[in-house]
Amino acid sequence: MLEPCGQFIGGRSLSGKEAAEVVYNPATGAEIVSLASASREQVDAAVAAAKQAYPLWSRMSPKERSLRMLQIADRIEQLANEFAEIEMRNCGKPIGTARAVDVGNTIDVFRFFAGAARTVHGLPAGEYRPGFTSMLRRDPLGVCVGIAPWNYPLMMASWKIAPVIAAGNTVVLKPSEHTPLSALKLAEVCAEFLPEGVVNVVTGNGPNVGARLVSHLDVCMVSLTGDVATGRKIMEAVAPTIKRTHFELGGKAPVIVLEDADLAAAVEAIAEGGYYNAGQDCTAACRVYAHAKIHDRLVAELQAAIGKIEVGDPAVAGTVLGPLITARQRDRVDGFVARAVADTPAEIVTGGNRPDRPGYYYSPTLIAGARHEDEIVQKEVFGPVVSVTRFEDDAQVLDWANDCEYGLASSVWTQNVGKAAEFASRLEYGVTWINTHSVNTTEMPHGGVKMSGYGSDLSVYCLEHYTVTRHVMIKH
Ligand code: NAD
Repeated sequence: MLEPCGQFIGGRSLSGKEAAEVVYNPATGAEIVSLASASREQVDAAVAAAKQAYPLWSRMSPKERSLRMLQIADRIEQLANEFAEIEMRNCGKPIGTARAVDVGNTIDVFRFFAGAARTVHGLPAGEYRPGFTSMLRRDPLGVCVGIAPWNYPLMMASWKIAPVIAAGNTVVLKPSEHTPLSALKLAEVCAEFLPEGVVNVVTGNGPNVGARLVSHLDVCMVSLTGDVATGRKIMEAVAPTIKRTHFELGGKAPVIVLEDADLAAAVEAIAEGGYYNAGQDCTAACRVYAHAKIHDRLVAELQAAIGKIEVGDPAVAGTVLGPLITARQRDRVDGFVARAVADTPAEIVTGGNRPDRPGYYYSPTLIAGARHEDEIVQKEVFGPVVSVTRFEDDAQVLDWANDCEYGLASSVWTQNVGKAAEFASRLEYGVTWINTHSVNTTEMPHGGVKMSGYGSDLSVYCLEHYTVTRHVMIKH
């Protein structure tokens, strides 16, 4: 496989001109490639290319934009195995899930937004004041910037590109410095079907390349998926130019297992949703609250289920849990686990160690006896670690579930429809799943409240962030 140059600007692959970022294979720790970062001039050139492409792209009919996006989706489908291989090598994702989920979702996202581009709707034109006809326009914004994290590099690139260009904007994407390879490949595919400069990718770290990009005067909007601290920095950086922002930040999903829950189903979902993508998922089923009457059984059954998770080489079919993204992330996870059981009643039921193999692996870990106020229950670990906390009654667990700085995802497990509806109405989260966890669909919004950010990826609602409603009034 040919390694990319590092930058994709104005329809061309270019080498960066500043300090290189080394891209590793987390399953082995071996270097894949070293990519020079974009210089200040290259960041400017990427924004200039997007600005130049804007008049042509934004005035193209929705149908024409849509057809090109459908061609992009078909091409990604043709190259599905290549994309999956890139994600496996660069992120340590098990090859089967990389193909089915990461690539599969990316194709679906381009197809969905290709359709959505043609269905934008709003208030009808009319005489809202006698003697005047008012009509509503929904126009694109201009050059938008997407800043993506490392946990789902290809999917996040598609979430930051497809709705943006569907709405008629042009885009400069900066993937994570750890995982730039699939976004660069995606930019090449987009360029086969789009006018030059509609999709650009610059790579490099956040403080240099990212910061230059988000504060650029010709950028109208910044959409970040990343850490809360990064969201804060970007908010400050865009304040002088009053840019629009859209933030998808962290999460710490409560999984509330009530007394009457189907325990086998809950155990299966936690064993999957708590460890999927090595727990590096902002909606991971990581903060379990179990009713006192079923607590011990749940912990025992979960321990058994976790024991069956296949940890191993992501290239081997059947591997479920691959490595974490970096040695630093693995050490960070290990620090959380060590603190969770130091001078607290909590104990490690299983895991809490590094498997004896190369690469950045961490064993699937279950911690029982964690108290609601403990760091392991409150803070995002972003690793294969699930905590279980015992609760006594519904009112207490509802308070606990909402007493968290994040508000992205939650789930409730019960056979009682009324209780499920009541919990769903009172949980302060962007999504509440009933008797399931971590199931997404492109038609529904994905976004949070509180420190998890605001705005949404996916769904037609997402198009509202990337467009502006404008009023045109005609005097009779
Ligand atoms: P991060 O915030 O460190 O990095 C995200 C991106 O921001 C990277 O491309 C990085 O280079 C860039 N960046 C960093 N500083 C910047 C700056 N000053 N200006 C501009 N860009 C800058 O996050 P990460 O470590 O890559 O990803 C993990 C985090 O992402 C977790 O906290 C996780 O919860 C969050 N996340 C959230 C969602 C969601 O949908 N809410 C999805 C995935 C990941």
